[in-house]
Amino acid sequence: MSSLSNGTSKPLDRSNLIPFSSRLREGRALAQDVWSIFNVANLPADCINLGQGYMNFSPPKWITEAATEALNTVAPNHYSHPRGRIRLRDALKTFYEPLFGRSLDVESEILVTSGANEGQYSVFTAFLEQGDEVIMFEPFFDQYLPSVTFNGGKPVYVPLHPPAAHIENPTSDDWTINIDEIRSAITSRTKMIIVNTPHNPIGKVFTRKELEAIAAIAEEFNLLVMSDEVYDCLVFDNKEHVRIATLPGMWDRTVTVGSAGKAFAATGWRIGWLIAPKYIIQPTLAATTRIVFCSNSPLQEAAAAGLEQANDRNFFEIQRAEYAERRAILVDAFDKLGMKYTLPEGSYFILLDISDVDFPEDYPFPESVLGRGRDFRACWFIAMEVGISSIPVSEFYCEEHANIGEAYARFAFCKDTDTLKAAADRFQGLKKFLKH
Ligand code: GLN
Repeated sequence: MSSLSNGTSKPLDRSNLIPFSSRLREGRALAQDVWSIFNVANLPADCINLGQGYMNFSPPKWITEAATEALNTVAPNHYSHPRGRIRLRDALKTFYEPLFGRSLDVESEILVTSGANEGQYSVFTAFLEQGDEVIMFEPFFDQYLPSVTFNGGKPVYVPLHPPAAHIENPTSDDWTINIDEIRSAITSRTKMIIVNTPHNPIGKVFTRKELEAIAAIAEEFNLLVMSDEVYDCLVFDNKEHVRIATLPGMWDRTVTVGSAGKAFAATGWRIGWLIAPKYIIQPTLAATTRIVFCSNSPLQEAAAAGLEQANDRNFFEIQRAEYAERRAILVDAFDKLGMKYTLPEGSYFILLDISDVDFPEDYPFPESVLGRGRDFRACWFIAMEVGISSIPVSEFYCEEHANIGEAYARFAFCKDTDTLKAAADRFQGLKKFLKH
């Protein structure tokens, strides 16, 4: 080997010539994310994927046809207005006005974003100063954390308490908040509170009473409320989906987040939206314009077609019934197994209590799940031995509270009934790994 510039035969390590930003050290951005670890690519090909929440079916044909039509038309192949294409903003206006009980101005109160994630990121960019605190209920959708810290914010966690042990058949409503805990989490730096209803990963649909209590705190301490309602079309058992923005006075301080991905089985489209008063939308528009400039144009047209026709086609009602049937397949499988789970009143996730799943600690686990919570190993073991993938719930907790999440695996039921029935059969294979 020829001699190298450092005078040894060992090549210089050039991998850190350009140090990356310390920002990535916060918000767990450097840890491998749970979606990548439990990606189908890492699991056996015949594993049934109930992990990451996306559908194994296409959007309705009448919506994909609208996408095709948009692709065959000149204008929607080009930049949209940063606020979003007017057809989609008009459709959002018509669809949401009755739900918000007010008129919505398409020029100043509706903003189309590149998925709900980017919309939320832009709100943080627009409103957070360095060191501002953002309250979020724990467990929380994992993306909130880096979105807050990248924008200089500090996450502050308030627990959603798991169902008391004596509750035989808990529902998502048995996960409770304690208003005094929210109050004591507030400091002079608290700027925002994130509400997520229906909730990922619990499926909790916050009650009017809970939202009224949160609203009272937001008023008292002058907080901006970000209400992530991307699962608003998936509320079951006649439970009421309450929009915190519709509570007295709350429109003025709330930004509501929506998603075409969830509504129309199109998670890869990355079309989301924000609805809020002008003085919340305007700064957020300034941020989003400089982050992405505008969002995917043809699929905005398709999302508009979806919203335009949804009510006439009874689309959301039919879809809700389909999801209720999908939920029932997994619930029956868990009942048959005799395992405890949280019956979700909304969203498409079920939390299964995996405390009793017994696995050998010397199982050949990959590096990616070692050193993480017990649930990472349990979920890996279930995927390998039972053939069903899921998401470990400690990922939705901060490190100090990860032990609470370790008791659960999250299974997504946004899959066709044949797949869920096959999973239900396989689930019975879990019996032999239960402690009692
Ligand atoms: N929202 C989806 C879920 O919770 C996907 C999240 C993601 O991939 N970042 O499963």
